[in-house]
Amino acid sequence: MRRKLVVGNWKMYGRLASNKALLEGVVAGVRELKGADYAVCVPYPYLAQAQSMLQGGNVAWGAQNLNQHEEGAYTGAVAPGMLVDFGCRYVIIGHSERRGLFQETNVSASAKFDAALRAGLTPIFCVGETLAEREAGVTEQVVATQLDAVLNSAGAQGLAKAVVAYEPVWAIGTGKTASPDQAQAVHAFIRQRVAQQDSHVAQALCILYGGSVKAANASELFAMQDIDGGLIGGASLVANDFVAICRAAQ
Ligand code: PEP
Repeated sequence: MRRKLVVGNWKMYGRLASNKALLEGVVAGVRELKGADYAVCVPYPYLAQAQSMLQGGNVAWGAQNLNQHEEGAYTGAVAPGMLVDFGCRYVIIGHSERRGLFQETNVSASAKFDAALRAGLTPIFCVGETLAEREAGVTEQVVATQLDAVLNSAGAQGLAKAVVAYEPVWAIGTGKTASPDQAQAVHAFIRQRVAQQDSHVAQALCILYGGSVKAANASELFAMQDIDGGLIGGASLVANDFVAICRAAQ
């Protein structure tokens, strides 16, 4: 039995005061839940706040990106070891907003994936097709190419220490969710592709669904055989909504 995981992706939202209220609400709501794992990925400046408010509890924290270099003259970049310094467990890699808005490629995402593993962080590696790609019937090719970027570099053993998030780009922040069957089909495809390299790693791999998950649709998505939890954007910014999704993963 794989353990479910629910991760909030705060994106570029929050301020010290609103984060405090949000984290207090999440901590209080999730404190008694034991059946799954929970985390929030916050903007870099708030890692210290997340660390001080979450340490010792059952909500882990992480970042939304990193630089693949250990250190150096990379103005504005954040090294993996810096995330470790702030107690991060997770780091999101290759989110479609990074790919679409910040020119991230399969090559750079794979380099970041390897760097996260070297630092002892758990990468949450995002894959997913655009609407045009889905309508053109190439969802599996797109997802396979994205996944192969890490499979060819880090191998199945690398994926054994990672989480994969299937996030159809057309469902992110749009209010349009993939149906449970649509999501399940791609999750099963991802697991089967990893199984071609290592069936044990594939069976144990945690594959999250992301894309307009709400309290109202989380249970039916999480009930699918190959959906092991969610990566939650908008709904992770409202404590009661995020807690309700965490409950759905019980
Ligand atoms: C995300 O940012 O990863 C995401 C899934 O966003 P939303 O839940 O808002 O669609």
